[in-house]
Amino acid sequence: MKQPDRILTVIGENEKNVDMSVNSYAPTGEVQDLWDRVHKDMRQEFGEAVFRSWLKPLQLQAYYHNTLEVSVPTRFIRDWIQNNYALRILEMCRKEQADLQRIEFVVAQSGFTATDVVNVIDEEHKESTSTFRAKDLEEGPFNEFFSPLDPRFTFDSFVIGEPNALACSAAKRVAESISVPFNPLYIYGGVGLGKTHLMHAIAWEIRRRDPSKIVLYLSAEKFMYQFVKALRAQDTMRFKEFFRSVDVLMMDDIQFIAGKESTQEEFFHTFNALIDNNKQIIISADRAPSDMAGLEERLRSRLAWGLVADIQPSTYELRLGILERKRSLMDANVPQSVLEFLALKITSNIRELEGALTRLVAHADVCGHDVTLETAQNVLHDLLRSHDRRITIDEIQKKVIQHYSLKMDDMHSARRARAVARPRQIAMYLAKQLTQRSLPEIGRKFGGRDHTTVMHAVKKIEELMNLDDTIAQDVDVIQRSLKG
Ligand code: ADP
Ligand code: MG
Repeated sequence: MKQPDRILTVIGENEKNVDMSVNSYAPTGEVQDLWDRVHKDMRQEFGEAVFRSWLKPLQLQAYYHNTLEVSVPTRFIRDWIQNNYALRILEMCRKEQADLQRIEFVVAQSGFTATDVVNVIDEEHKESTSTFRAKDLEEGPFNEFFSPLDPRFTFDSFVIGEPNALACSAAKRVAESISVPFNPLYIYGGVGLGKTHLMHAIAWEIRRRDPSKIVLYLSAEKFMYQFVKALRAQDTMRFKEFFRSVDVLMMDDIQFIAGKESTQEEFFHTFNALIDNNKQIIISADRAPSDMAGLEERLRSRLAWGLVADIQPSTYELRLGILERKRSLMDANVPQSVLEFLALKITSNIRELEGALTRLVAHADVCGHDVTLETAQNVLHDLLRSHDRRITIDEIQKKVIQHYSLKMDDMHSARRARAVARPRQIAMYLAKQLTQRSLPEIGRKFGGRDHTTVMHAVKKIEELMNLDDTIAQDVDVIQRSLKG
């Protein structure tokens, strides 16, 4: 019986420089031949994809004391090989040469890490200031992994109010701390309430404080896109290596990967690797971890490990504050009464609120008149009308039965056949989303159902939307036609 744990050594944390030390000898031609044969066999044994990702870069460096010293390009690859392939490789070598006792994997150079890219860039721009770094990294060989940061989204331009105070102070803590105060920071809230703004603000601030830090901000969608692309190109090694080498990973709109299993799996591993190395992770989503259907349990629970901070729907005061800030940034002449009017009328999301003010000012500019309450009402007529328009449950039911070619009766009946029950659930879901009606009220409109039935329907459809594209699309289409 062999003693695998004794005969396998992996050089520890101090990466050994591979130039020959006193005790090692350049391999003879014979040993090199042996290694070449084994190396070739690996392709056969482990398959092309694995070979290309992990094993191809292995190089024989030295042979001494019955030890093969093999170089690997990075620490990450070394660990991976050690955990997955090392024993088998040793066996393969021993078949060729029985007295061989161990293989040592040493890190020869540090291949594809973000830090290296920065270093290379620094070499090329010796005269450059340090703020050059992050920017160059984004535009350099790894630019496909970064999403751009909006220069307007800073802490300075973020107006703090009750609904976002917790999220904002958590964001500042993370941006200003030298250590990692909580990990991950998870920010969630509805559309247009400032999640992305806060994320960018954190990224800017961390970079400003320490330009050498590699802050990777990207949308979950982009993460998935890049991952799938790497899978296709059988080049996941570069992908993994890169994501594991950043100092701060910020992922926006993580709900996007709910229901996308392999992307989630990959993210989970990246997530763990970074947390283990005490690297900050910041995540945003449109809902709390506990409400995220289609997310694997272990990922869900880990997301909630750090600090979970929500952004509540805006209040009148916050909306007015944002408008006032925006007015001063635009240096526009807008009476206070107009701002108050907008803050009162446009309640759904901040993006629309800002859009309305911009439109108003642009319109006044072009037409050469002042912004007044009256012009505001005129210009924003469409916008406000769509806001005032209330969608009713009857309308929802009508659209749903049209879409699925059912009868109105099917919305009220007790029939459980899926072809009827599913559309009914969708209608209940939309009623909850698009009207102000309470669950019992909705239940009554659907043939006197109990509020728990409605709740169940809402949950079910939320879940299915993450798992089933057809349902997600159906809901989307119906919703659009209701709003349009
Ligand atoms: P989300 O990512 O939550 O959908 P965004 O961060 O994109 O929302 O915000 C939408 C718009 O509203 C952006 O232009 C953003 O600058 C603005 N905004 C949101 N909240 C605030 C705030 N508290 N202060 C200033 N601007 C805000
Ligand atoms: Mg966003």
